[in-house]
Amino acid sequence: MQTLRLYANDAGSIEQAARIIRSGGLVACPTETVYGLGANALDVAAVQKIFAAKERPLWDPLIVHVSSREMLKSLTMQLPAQFENLFSTFMPGPLTLVVSKQATVPDVVTAGRNTVAVRFPAHPVAQRLIAASGLPIAAPSANWFQHVSPTTAEHVLADLDGRIEAVLDGGPCPIGVESTVLDLTVAVPRILRQGAVTAEQLKQVLGDVVVINPVSRGQKGLQSPGMMSRHYAPRTNVVLSQGRETELVEVVQKLSHQKVGVLLPSGWNIRAAAIFDWGRWGDWAALASRLYAGLRWLDDLELELVVAPLPPEEALGGVIKERLLKASGREILPGRMDFGKG
Ligand code: AMP
Ligand code: MG
Repeated sequence: MQTLRLYANDAGSIEQAARIIRSGGLVACPTETVYGLGANALDVAAVQKIFAAKERPLWDPLIVHVSSREMLKSLTMQLPAQFENLFSTFMPGPLTLVVSKQATVPDVVTAGRNTVAVRFPAHPVAQRLIAASGLPIAAPSANWFQHVSPTTAEHVLADLDGRIEAVLDGGPCPIGVESTVLDLTVAVPRILRQGAVTAEQLKQVLGDVVVINPVSRGQKGLQSPGMMSRHYAPRTNVVLSQGRETELVEVVQKLSHQKVGVLLPSGWNIRAAAIFDWGRWGDWAALASRLYAGLRWLDDLELELVVAPLPPEEALGGVIKERLLKASGREILPGRMDFGKG
């Protein structure tokens, strides 16, 4: 199959993409978090094509994207009390809610659960595509299963060219890390996946929220499969250092017998085979938006190792840290902070 590259700004491109969605095809589309691989969420055959294109196992449920509150309500049963506050504070935006589903949402979308994950993206291209289709769009990240999520149309094509009908190019994704997945089916809401909306932000609205720790082994019984630690991973091994220039230099020096690439904060000084100028240390939003681009760029250079410093758990720094730990294949153990020493 020939994958069409449509430019979101071109006249008629959104309509053309919407026609593909309505006829059961796959369109990759930018959101404010990462590019999604979309299909009509109510069409079983179309949704199955997502799993085939990504080589994603059927036990991993999809997020359904909507362009209005009415569309969201058409997919869900009675919404819990916290919904209104969350909706008015964070939506549209990078927050995904897990709630009870209507029977119209097919099992293939939810991996047989009676809950569905719903999100109202803020990105204008995503909103226009969903509205023009007139359909809720099931969309996981537009990459191979467990690979680094895509934040540009080039990233999507690197993984899925020839496997999907079209990619709608809307430029780089502004946030660059995935949405926060919040489970509202329990008395105290649980964060199943950390993401662009932080736990602190949610606490301010909800009062109480629990962060579920990621688990590394097995699939069955997972509350949310995106929690597995081997996820978001480049092919090249990733080694982490503490988040200071001296510690990063020390780790890179220790490994200098190998071909090392570095995700390097701007202005830090280091010698290595390859350097990705990541952005200003402390500007966590900027670093988050370039994290996956950096990992993918370094991954294409046939290096032996990629080294990155770990941000503190402060605003989006915490999400970058969690994704880097997953990219490095490390389990996240509370209190363990000696990365890059062993
Ligand atoms: P992706 O869209 O590829 O970033 O992955 C979507 C993730 O959302 C899944 O891997 C799950 O972790 C989570 N998810 C989707 N639907 C549900 C659901 N019904 N219950 C719990 N988690 C879900
Ligand atoms: Mg994904």
